[in-house]
Amino acid sequence: MVSLTEKVVLKRYMTLPQPEDRVMCEYIWIDGTGEGIRSKCKTMDFEPKHAKECPVWNYDGSSTFQAEGSNSDMYLHPVALYNDPFRLGKNKLVLCEVYKYNNKPAESNNRKSCNEVCEKVKEDQPWFGIEQEYTLLDIDKYPFGWPKNGFPGPQGPYYCGVGSNKVFGRDIVEAHYRACLYAGIKIAGCNAEVMPGQWEFQVGPCEGISVGDELWVARYILNRVAEDFNVLVTFDPKPMPGDWNGAGAHTNYSTLKMREDGGIKHIEEAIDKLSKCHDKHIRAYDPKAGEDNKRRLTGLHETSTISDFSAGVANRGASIRIPRQVAQDGNGYLEDRRPSSNCDPYSVVEVLLRTTCLGEL
Ligand code: ADP
Ligand code: MN
Ligand code: MN
Ligand code: MN
Repeated sequence: MVSLTEKVVLKRYMTLPQPEDRVMCEYIWIDGTGEGIRSKCKTMDFEPKHAKECPVWNYDGSSTFQAEGSNSDMYLHPVALYNDPFRLGKNKLVLCEVYKYNNKPAESNNRKSCNEVCEKVKEDQPWFGIEQEYTLLDIDKYPFGWPKNGFPGPQGPYYCGVGSNKVFGRDIVEAHYRACLYAGIKIAGCNAEVMPGQWEFQVGPCEGISVGDELWVARYILNRVAEDFNVLVTFDPKPMPGDWNGAGAHTNYSTLKMREDGGIKHIEEAIDKLSKCHDKHIRAYDPKAGEDNKRRLTGLHETSTISDFSAGVANRGASIRIPRQVAQDGNGYLEDRRPSSNCDPYSVVEVLLRTTCLGEL
């Protein structure tokens, strides 16, 4: 028996006026799996305008796969602030980095080192746009909208589809889009994907570390919205084995030089560097150092194989694609198609900058 919370009843309480000097701040962080998101709420007596104004807080790491021996306190350091699309008003979502009792970053805290690299290459003005693909699952964990005792018709009509027999879960997608806009996230667009029940939204272009912050909070919001619809979200890169597309997090990337006239030269230089350290990138592109992504990067379903590096103009079967328009304009950005849908964007951004800007191979 599925338990349902009657949202109409909740609405009655949500219309209770909130005291002027009481602001609810939902602290959000990444747990020890590197992909799970956790959050808890704190009342503040003022409306924070910057993450810096929010106090450091703590939680029990032994319940999030993060404890170290008997020292289970973990510290939450606020780093980014968004409007709370669920509670509205002055209430906030507060994205945090996690630190251990000894003030060292938690193993799952990839943001700290990413941010250090972003600071180092600031002059290059790196921009990122990430295409987050995901799959909606019914509460029984079978893809949302699929016939319970079988499979939908083969792929073909679903990508950017319209009609009740082609797309499943559009209400969730719409609600998520609006909630991201309200929160202040730079959501760039959304579309239905190739596998029925699979969707995509894009965040960006964002400069440096902020793409990671916004993507994590957009994932959080998506999970919260899906709660309201009694639907599950999975970021697994290959939720259905067989002739069904997997889910990725294509990462579109440019530096100032790539965006300027004649920038294609710098895009090609970056691709040359990327070609020399494919394995290093694959290890950074999912939380299990390539184990998850190898189910997806098979060379089929618009992917390149996990073992080979390739690049090409308008080639969706390559590791790196130069969009047709970019080749025509002679400047713009490149698309790294390798990151898995469950990647940590901080790890992806860090390794891209290390390879292309710092020349680490
Ligand atoms: P695709 O054709 O691969 O489906 P999308 O339209 O889904 O591409 O996503 C393209 C992404 O590229 C968007 O998130 C956009 O913000 C981002 N983008 C556009 N220009 C740049 C740029 N100069 N640098 C980095 N990212 C960019
Ligand atoms: Mn896309
Ligand atoms: Mn896509
Ligand atoms: Mn893409």
